[in-house]
Amino acid sequence: MDTKEMIKIKQLNKSFGDLHVLKNIDMTVYESDVVCLIGSSGSGKSTLLRCLNFLERKDNGHIIIEGNEVNPRTDDLNKIREKVGMVFQNFNLFPHKTVLENIIEAPIMVKGVGKEKAIIKAKQLLKKVGLEDKSDVYPSKLSGGQKQRVAIARALAMEPDIMLFDEPTSALDPELVGEVLTTMKDLAEEGMTMVVVTHEMGFAREVADWIVYMHDGKIIERGTPEQFFNHPKEERTREFLTATM
Ligand code: ADP
Ligand code: MG
Repeated sequence: MDTKEMIKIKQLNKSFGDLHVLKNIDMTVYESDVVCLIGSSGSGKSTLLRCLNFLERKDNGHIIIEGNEVNPRTDDLNKIREKVGMVFQNFNLFPHKTVLENIIEAPIMVKGVGKEKAIIKAKQLLKKVGLEDKSDVYPSKLSGGQKQRVAIARALAMEPDIMLFDEPTSALDPELVGEVLTTMKDLAEEGMTMVVVTHEMGFAREVADWIVYMHDGKIIERGTPEQFFNHPKEERTREFLTATM
């Protein structure tokens, strides 16, 4: 059994001005766990992920990554982002770089990997996401599903220990959702620790080890997919499930 704590959040709070967006969040993610974070729009899911990757600064509380509490004022956040990869809804690829250049950029610039080594690794990753023939293409020539698979390959090129996904399929045409979810499922099966914000309940049910349901900045309920979908404890959760499914 895996018991290494990859992410531990204690009493995390975050406000934007007067808006209290994250309210005393406690959460632990163990090695190789897939946690699906669900909840209606505006409940704070993206802010929580962004705090985990230090794209947002928490107000107070503790964020402990692989046993080390992170202090954004004194720690090298690039080092932490090497361990915690992130994939966004809108891909965020560099439009003026080819697929290959997108993937090798950070390993070379941030990690100091040699160019040849970075290219070999990038090609392996493109193969893994089923895009080995696209290395010299510009993002504008790709479908949304292909862009997102490149974005996943780009995040993996940093060899992260944890991957965060913020609604990775929400911007995709319905027929392209499956290929991205399959890529994510493969990654989960390889043992990657993942936190996935998603509205894809089928994916959550099938792939997640844990479901965490947020509403209004708070974690309302958490459980295995079986517990969560079949026997929700909270009235709020039941309302959400009725409205979504
Ligand atoms: P979700 O991802 O669950 O839809 P978010 O974390 O994006 O929710 O947003 C939670 C709340 O915080 C929303 O009310 C949103 O408008 C607000 N919010 C998010 N980011 C910012 C920001 N940079 N400045 C001000 N308000 C923000
Ligand atoms: Mg969001």
